[in-house]
Amino acid sequence: MKRTFEWTKTVRPNILALHPYSSARDEFTGEEGIFLDANENPFGEYNRYPDPHQKALKQALSEVKGVPAGQLFIGNGSDEIIDLVYRIFCEPGKDSVIICPPTYGMYEVAANINDVAIRRIPLTASFQLNADAILQTAQTDPSVKLLFLCSPNNPTGNGLNGVEEVIRAFPGIVVADEAYIDFYPGRSLKNRTATHPNLIVMQTFSKAWALASARVGIAFAQERLIALMDKTKPPYNVSRLNQEAALAALSHPEAFEERLSVILEQKERLLHELPRIGIVKKIYPSDANFLLVEVDDANRVYDRLVEKKVIVRNRHSQVPGCIRITVGSPEENDKLLKELEMMC
Ligand SMILES: *Cc1c(COP(=O)(O)O)cnc(C)c1O
Repeated sequence: MKRTFEWTKTVRPNILALHPYSSARDEFTGEEGIFLDANENPFGEYNRYPDPHQKALKQALSEVKGVPAGQLFIGNGSDEIIDLVYRIFCEPGKDSVIICPPTYGMYEVAANINDVAIRRIPLTASFQLNADAILQTAQTDPSVKLLFLCSPNNPTGNGLNGVEEVIRAFPGIVVADEAYIDFYPGRSLKNRTATHPNLIVMQTFSKAWALASARVGIAFAQERLIALMDKTKPPYNVSRLNQEAALAALSHPEAFEERLSVILEQKERLLHELPRIGIVKKIYPSDANFLLVEVDDANRVYDRLVEKKVIVRNRHSQVPGCIRITVGSPEENDKLLKELEMMC
């Protein structure tokens, strides 16, 4: 019998039945009064618990993203959302997840933390999905509850094709990680959740919004999926400082656009200059703010760059011969190019 997506079979029974913690800020939601309900300290600037529902941030985000606030979840970075998804859908020691390497390492680490078995379906030679193998595995193995897709993918940099066909046929939850989507405009699935009841789209403030230190991740999904994440998360998962930092970024779209255009310009520059350097053998196509570059001896190039205080990511263990270079500021890229040239 063909497996299809079934809500009640996909969510863990303990999570379906869960009565969430009711915080002081849930039980009284007014703005005014003398607050003697949460055992807070009456003194200081950061003495009050933050809004557990991040209403102001969600409202602003809803306008920027064109998605209703009720279909948004805010996490303490995408990394919290990845962990939450495992806890909501995967029975430890029993269920499994499909991951398509080479890809983001946290999908695997979070699976191991949650004692969820990993089924690996590697990307093809051109770093695209092996859709037939993914769906075949999900059909024949009833323990498969989850699929993580990353588009544009890290560390390869390319966007994935045919994602919606896979989501439509996948008999479990699909998480589409769009951490780099702002560098790949027009390809987001954030407005496709009405069509796909099993889709969770993840984005983040860590990359194009320049707020990695604030730890603010976003999920887009149908309301019943958002409700599961809301009741499973720690009540105050996003601090007031972090909510305010994200809100401030959203209120300066011109700064966002300006930085984005500098990064995209600098990426073009690197794409133009890197191939002229002798040790560079290949640059993979990138839809993100980084380049996967095959060099003559990745370990050596990595070590030599570190000696010169230019830190790239050695991805040799994932993609043989490759380093991953983040597109930096014009001055940072000057230095990178200079040091690479000196190695030849
Ligand atoms: C950088 C990155 C993230 C961001 O994670 P945060 O926890 O939001 O900082 C998520 N997914 C991928 C694939 C990334 O490369």
